[in-house]
Amino acid sequence: MKTTAESIINKFAHENGFSDVGICSAEDFCGLRQSLVETQNTLSGFVEKDIEKRISPRLTMPCAKSIIVLAKSYNKNILVESDNRLRGYISIGAVGEDYHIFMQRKLGELSELLKNQFDAECMPFADTGPLVDRAVAIRSGIGYKGNNGTIITKNGGSAVFFGYIITNLSLKSGEKSTLHCSNCNKCVNSCPTGAINVGSFKIEKCISYITQQKRLLTVDEMKSIGLNLYGCDICQRVCKNNPKPFENITELDEIMPLLEEILNMSNSTFKSRLGTTAIGWRGAAVIKRNALAALGNTGRAESLALIEKYIKSENIMLRHTAVRAIINLGLESGQAMLESIYQYEEKNDIKEEIFASIWG
Ligand code: SF4
Ligand code: SF4
Repeated sequence: MKTTAESIINKFAHENGFSDVGICSAEDFCGLRQSLVETQNTLSGFVEKDIEKRISPRLTMPCAKSIIVLAKSYNKNILVESDNRLRGYISIGAVGEDYHIFMQRKLGELSELLKNQFDAECMPFADTGPLVDRAVAIRSGIGYKGNNGTIITKNGGSAVFFGYIITNLSLKSGEKSTLHCSNCNKCVNSCPTGAINVGSFKIEKCISYITQQKRLLTVDEMKSIGLNLYGCDICQRVCKNNPKPFENITELDEIMPLLEEILNMSNSTFKSRLGTTAIGWRGAAVIKRNALAALGNTGRAESLALIEKYIKSENIMLRHTAVRAIINLGLESGQAMLESIYQYEEKNDIKEEIFASIWG
């Protein structure tokens, strides 16, 4: 039997633990233009800013004919229970090797294979590509858009990472998925921030999106993330479209690290402990900011001593977050600390917030 590029792609995906494969044409995604214009201000760091490049694969590869999409499940059983210590949550997708690294390596290997066998031109992308991942995934037939705003794939469900390869090979496109969301609305009802509504998804309210921002969070954002340090899995856990995971998490510190340890991490400890996970590329300051916000949401008096270490931080984002966390805790013991900060703090906006919380 003749070896086709499609059969090589499927075999590669199967042998390398990918849950789903899809292929589609590299025609422009013209229908996306309007929504991209409307959501331009919610783009995160690595998303392509040029809307035309997000729509047209041929602005990235002029001879592009097809796009190969691969999905890998990151779903894991959590086999640990929390103790009563001050801990935060990390999304299961951020536990273990950074999926960008895994995806980029595997997509690179597949690209090499296609190049050697068919002299193909291939450009692999894992999350940092120019196109709209979800639109590419839907066109490739790998899945459909669920009410929880994610793409739900046939085998891997919604807890999957995507990557794609733009190629000049003319490949047979997959059929559009005929599956659809059961509309059970468990995701809508379980989302703690109201980010999901049937038919619309408010990304700016999503904890996963908020915890990855690199700026100072607003007071409301700080409160809304709860104890989440990076990402949020709630709407995925309740979705029955996610198959039973094969992998287990058995280390409590991996999924629920101690907030004290996060805040005490030096840059080198951060690199060795979290540098190779998906959190690594966001940097230590972001996870420390989230840890401070989480402390402010615990309602527990012992949080104050941990926050105190940051009230003189040279990092303004962390210093400001620490002050807001003390205010958010709302403890009498925090009042004296705020009064003392008010005396030496030089940033007017921080002083104004302290003033309003005590004397306003
Ligand atoms: S990830 Fe969390 S906050 Fe975001 S939509 Fe799902 S449940 Fe809501
Ligand atoms: S939880 Fe229910 S409504 Fe939400 S995405 Fe899953 S199947 Fe659809």
